[in-house]
Amino acid sequence: MLVENGWLDADAGAEKFSKSPVRTKKEDLMDQHVYCQSCGMPITEAKLMGTTKDGGTTEEFCTYCYQKGTFTQDVTMEEMIETCVPHMVDSGMQETEARELLCTTLPNLARWKKV
Ligand SMILES: [Zn+2]
Repeated sequence: MLVENGWLDADAGAEKFSKSPVRTKKEDLMDQHVYCQSCGMPITEAKLMGTTKDGGTTEEFCTYCYQKGTFTQDVTMEEMIETCVPHMVDSGMQETEARELLCTTLPNLARWKKV
């Protein structure tokens, strides 16, 4: 624990000064997650990324939805919701809460968005 003294005050001032709007914006961007554009799962690590036909990876879809350039399951959005709910319940969410979240999130994802 630091004792409150002159140095501490100086540090606090410096910290305040360095927090310019530019830095804050950059931090916000770094906090943003990439979500699978098919199931809405946050893609937090490279191994969760889908794979493309040429063996590369894509952050657009997760590995469960997208393999070698094609979707692993040919499903409707409603079926995708039913597939996802049990996984979200497993991770501690209420079923109604999970369903509600998916129903509001999935229609905005690239795979399901109707232009
Ligand atoms: Zn996915």
